[in-house]
Amino acid sequence: MENMDGLCVTDCERCPALVESRSRIVNGTGPEDASILFLGEGPGANEDEQGEPFVGRSGTVLDDALRDVGLARADVRITNCVRCRPPENRDPTKEELSNCRGYLERELDLVDPDIVVTLGKVPSQHLLDRSVAVTKEAGSVSDARLGESSRRVLVCLHPAATLYDRSQKETFEETIRQAAELAGVSDESSGQSRLGDY
Ligand code: URA
Repeated sequence: MENMDGLCVTDCERCPALVESRSRIVNGTGPEDASILFLGEGPGANEDEQGEPFVGRSGTVLDDALRDVGLARADVRITNCVRCRPPENRDPTKEELSNCRGYLERELDLVDPDIVVTLGKVPSQHLLDRSVAVTKEAGSVSDARLGESSRRVLVCLHPAATLYDRSQKETFEETIRQAAELAGVSDESSGQSRLGDY
């Protein structure tokens, strides 16, 4: 792909509304051989400003849940379905998702994670190509066809869903634990050792 440098999209003008609303293209971060890849919807204001996915409050929720299973942000790949901030944080359109799809497929091919964790409704529906009730389906694993390959997809709540609801927080944390187990990177003892943190 001529406008990609490795895993990074360097320039793209396919979506006029997003070109207008973005300050920069927000590429995925994390190791190029990560065994877990987290997929969000698209950059928000903080991500657009800092050029990194999940750096606002949602990012803190994700970082905390990763830490609880003995992982750090630096251990996982984090990317989005669209790489440019939609105006007023609206959902990306079908056309925008499709314009950005090739970049995502290339990232998935190169990183080749053991498990893709979809954070929220938009990325879950985008990969599974059906309507998804995320609250009901959180924790479910299925195979999705992506370009040439098939990927294991774990449906997860969006981290922001946990901010005001304790039960959602538990479901979110449980799904992150499940992701670590599916990828074979779980730290069995971390739950115990972290009790002292509180
Ligand atoms: N929400 C997303 O879906 N992606 C981000 O990068 C940040 C918040």
